[in-house]
Order: sequence, then C-alpha cells, then structure tokens
Amino acid sequence: MTGTLGAVTKIVIIGGGPAGTTCATYAARFGAEVVLIEDQIIGGAAHLLDCVPSKAMIATGGAMAFLQRSEGMGLEDVDPRIDPAALGLRLSGIRNRLSGSSSSLLESQGVRIIDGRGSFIDPHTVLANHNDGTVEEIQADVVVLSTGSRPRIPDWCEVDANRILTTRDAYPPDEIPEHLVVVGSGVTGVEFVHMFTSFGSKVTLIVSRQQVLPGKDPEVAAVLEADFLNRGVNLLKGARATTIEVEDDGVLVLCDDGRKVQGSHALLAIGSVPNSDGLGLDKAGIETEWGYVTIDDDCRSSVAHIYAAGDLSGKLPLSSVASMQGRKIAETIMGRATHGANRVDYDKAASAIFTEPEIADVGLAEADAFAEGRKIRVTKVPFATSAKALINDDSRGFIKILSDPATGEVLGGSIVGRHAAELISVIALAVTASLTVRDIYDSLLVHPTLAELITDAAE
Ligand SMILES: Cc1cc2nc3c(=O)[nH]c(=O)nc-3n(C[C@H](O)[C@H](O)[C@H](O)COP(=O)(O)OP(=O)(O)OC[C@H]3O[C@@H](n4cnc5c(N)ncnc54)[C@H](O)[C@@H]3O)c2cc1C
Repeated sequence: MTGTLGAVTKIVIIGGGPAGTTCATYAARFGAEVVLIEDQIIGGAAHLLDCVPSKAMIATGGAMAFLQRSEGMGLEDVDPRIDPAALGLRLSGIRNRLSGSSSSLLESQGVRIIDGRGSFIDPHTVLANHNDGTVEEIQADVVVLSTGSRPRIPDWCEVDANRILTTRDAYPPDEIPEHLVVVGSGVTGVEFVHMFTSFGSKVTLIVSRQQVLPGKDPEVAAVLEADFLNRGVNLLKGARATTIEVEDDGVLVLCDDGRKVQGSHALLAIGSVPNSDGLGLDKAGIETEWGYVTIDDDCRSSVAHIYAAGDLSGKLPLSSVASMQGRKIAETIMGRATHGANRVDYDKAASAIFTEPEIADVGLAEADAFAEGRKIRVTKVPFATSAKALINDDSRGFIKILSDPATGEVLGGSIVGRHAAELISVIALAVTASLTVRDIYDSLLVHPTLAELITDAAE
C-alpha cells in the first residue's frame, strides 16, 4: 500500500484507454482519490481509433459478405452496397455510447476526469495542460502511465491521410478504395485486407516473408491465405516496400526487389510506436527501452511509485491485456494483491484475428512445444463435422486443443473458423483454471452449437 498510513492515496493516471480507465475505476472503488487525465476521448485509442472502429467496419463487411453468399442460405441474390456516410455515423454512434458509459462509470466512482494532457514536472508532480488552455499542478502519491501507442510511420513515405493512409485514416475513408495496397501482413494488415475486400476493393498485400502472419502456426496462416486468394487478393510475397509515391490519381509502391504496384490508395500496417514523448519521463527518472516504459512483473517502472500499463509498457498490445494490467496495478497500489499470485500471466492471454474465417488462440502453441521438445497431445476436429457449421452454411476451419498427455491438463488451443474469437473463451478458461480435457468433454453443452466442437476436440 502506498501513501501515508491512514491518509487517502492520491493517484494520477495519464491516458484514458482501457488500461487507464480500468485502473481508475478499481483504484477509486478501493478508496483512492483518483485524477484521470485524457486528452482525446475516455476509452482511448481503443474506442476512438483502433480496436472498436476496426471491428465495427469488419462487422459491416461481414454482413455484406454474408448477404453476397445468400444463395447458400436459400435466399435470392442480394447485392448490398456500402454507404460511407452511414458507416461513419455507425462508427461515431458506437464510439459515443462506449465512451459515454465509461465516463459515467468513472464519475460514479468519484474519479475526477481532466480533459487535457499530462506530463511530469518532477517524480511526484504532474502538470495537467487542460484542453481549455488552463494549467494545473497536481501532487500524487502514485502515478500510472497509460498513454498507449500510435501507428509507426517509416521515413520512406509521407502519410497524407488521403491516398497514403495509416489504419487511423480509414474509419471510413472518404471513398472506398478501388485498389488498396496494404503494406504489412501482421494481424492489423490482414484484418484491413479482409475489411476492404469485403467492401469490394481490389487488394494487394505486400508480405515481407513467405507467409502472412509471420510467427503464426503455418497451418493457420495457410487457411487465411487460401481465403485471400479465393477472394482475389494479390499476395506479393518476399517483398518489402521501400517507397510510396502519390501519382495523379493513385499511388505507386516500390519494393526492395524491384517490383512495383500501382493502386488507388496505400495503407500502412507496419506496427506501432509508444506515446512516451512529451511525458517528461526524464524529469521523473523513468527508464525506457525503445520508448516503452520498462516494467517489472507488478507493472512498476524503474521508479517505485510510478507504474505503466497498456501499449506503453511494451507487453502484449491488446486491449484485454491493458485492462488486466490496469486492474492489477489498482489492486497492488491499494493493498488488495496477493504478491506473486496477482501478476498478469501474458502467456495465457487469448487473442484473435478478425478475418474470415476468424483465427484465435490461447496458451501454448504447437510450434513452441515442438521447439522446446515438450511432449504434448494434440487433438483436432474440422468445422465440417459440426451440424451448426452446416446450418450456418460455413464449414471452413478447425479446432485444435493441446494438452498434457500425462495429466490431461489443457495447455493451449487454436481455432480457425466462424466465431473463433468467441469460441476460444472456453479453451482460455480451461487454460487459466488448469482444467483438463475431461473437464471440457464432461460439459453438457447446447446442441446444435459450434461450441460442441470444442468438447469433440477435447475427447
Ligand atoms: C487497428 C487496430 C486494431 C486493434 N484491434 C484490437 C482488438 O481487436 N482487440 C484487442 O484486444 N486489441 C486490439 N488492438 C490493440 C488495442 O487497441 C490496444 O492494445 C489498446 O488500445 C491499448 O490500450 P491503452 O490503454 O494502452 O491505450 P490507448 O487505447 O492507446 O489509449 C491511450 C490514451 O492516452 C491518451 N494520451 C496519450 N498521451 C497523453 C497525455 N500526455 N496526456 C493525456 N492523455 C494522453 C490518448 O489520447 C489515448 O486516448 C488494436 C490495435 C489497432 C492499431
């Protein structure tokens, strides 16, 4: 517990994304006096610019794709068209509702929200530059940094937010690109390929290696590549973009091996950089690595009373992880943590890629088990064996469960297929709670559902 015995702990949190808002809510609930400084929108980039709008656009694209495949459902041909203005309203509606409910929750817990930017004056003093032009110095027992990250823009191209876009310029773009060239084939890149292919754009994906989603299970990546090729995506493998030029009414992307691609627009999806500049970290003596605040297992920085969470901490860049770190920090500060047992277990974080089919995994990966020489049992069932998959007219994909051959403990799993991001929760719960395959296949689930496939895979 931090602060003088008997006195209220004063916490200043800079950055109101999932990490900052969760930390603020819990710390206030536990009795702290909390000030949250956020310069754009409560809910953070997750609500405004990244996670939520991208998934909302993908859901719209998914609805279009579903209607286009209506024949398989016994319907007449439907030809949906995108309305960028209506889509824009849909995105702002979702954002405002989410941000409004987060703000109400914080206010109901007594959190003071400052609309502005925060930075250090010294290790215990934060300067709040209010967006109305006023400034304020705030004393803190504890400071939590959760300012997130932003798209990486390389020095070999100039983003104009018109022809050359980052992911944040695409919600939605003024016009649906006729031919989008996506640079980067990691999670974000493939989600945007899927999104714009669904909207009817022709898409070229520049893949620096020989496989999309480098580092992922090759079997999983192969299913996605097959879907992309089926939908007419041009995969340019083994190429790195080195320049992007704006031409009259389009872009020209040049690659290191001499290949050139002409398109109407280019979209960069080549990672992110931390929002640590401008925080005055040097005034507080905080150590960083590549701009990310270095933290220990309790999310504590090199300065004992200063914590960092979310993308700024350089751990897994996921909204869910950011929120979990935020809650654990609140528990640690307020003396609610069981030391050691209360740490974020990054190895057990479930993650998903919202393509079609969806891809999700959790826990131990098959390739890692193989590399470690670890004995595991792998069981796999295809979606094609599921009654619900046939009812849905979509039997692409499979479910794989990894378990300990001696004890049956569930160690990990991956799912490729419809609703994979929802279905993985069952395996994630098993991994977190150290359940066995028997615990899963003894569960009586609803029939017909896709979740039944998980019990089949566990047998
Ligand atoms: C395209 C895309 C899609 C994604 N999809 C998913 C997904 O499906 N699922 C998932 O789990 N994750 C997803 N992510 C990752 C997720 O968005 C991030 O991990 C998450 O937003 C990190 O939360 P955070 O709390 O660290 O910060 P953020 O959400 O980045 O919020 C930080 C906030 O701090 C504010 N800020 C910055 N500097 C200051 C300052 N000096 N003073 C005051 N305020 C400041 C910013 O305005 C911002 O609002 C996606 C990311 C991208 C780029």
